[in-house]
Amino acid sequence: MIKDLKLLVNNEMRDAYIHGFKSASEEGKVNVVQKGKRLDIKWDQEDEDAIRVLQSGRVQTNSYNELSMVLSTKLNLVVADSIAQGRSINTTVGEMQKIVNTEVYKLRRIARTEIINVGNEGRLASYKKQEKLRKKPFKYTLVVASGPRTCDAHIELKSRIPAAGLLIDDLIQLQQSVGASHGLSLTGNSLLHPNQRTILLRVP
Ligand SMILES: [Zn+2]
Repeated sequence: MIKDLKLLVNNEMRDAYIHGFKSASEEGKVNVVQKGKRLDIKWDQEDEDAIRVLQSGRVQTNSYNELSMVLSTKLNLVVADSIAQGRSINTTVGEMQKIVNTEVYKLRRIARTEIINVGNEGRLASYKKQEKLRKKPFKYTLVVASGPRTCDAHIELKSRIPAAGLLIDDLIQLQQSVGASHGLSLTGNSLLHPNQRTILLRVP
């Protein structure tokens, strides 16, 4: 089950990256390479490597790995406990089901955030390739989803990004400093935490 979860997550991450990459390419009206067609920007080994790094959890919040650990630890405890107590299989499975159910809501929340983050990484990879072609850097902004649950860090961040956008390094620096003053650390290229949707976008 844990193995299936990892595979599922890996596939979702790959899809999110590709989706981000393609949509950023469409904005710039550049072709993403398919074999034999005109090459504008290339999907290449660099992207494959980036996806692998994202999937390994080295860049992201690592929450999936943590979740898998917590889940397997809890399930193992239930099994050990059931054997010790001489519980029936049905009771044991019922107890295991409860554990799984309580962890699933966390999974949904994490999934939404991670997928947005990976999508942003794909977008940025495409933008960077476009920047090389046009030989001029883009200015970037973050589209922060606002609502009653938007945190102070994101409200401040939104107010501090100029309308004309920022160079990517400056945007990252701003996020790091705003994040730090609110006790958040930056993972990836856009400041994310559970329940926040922030999309990285170039300013046209
Ligand atoms: Zn926030």
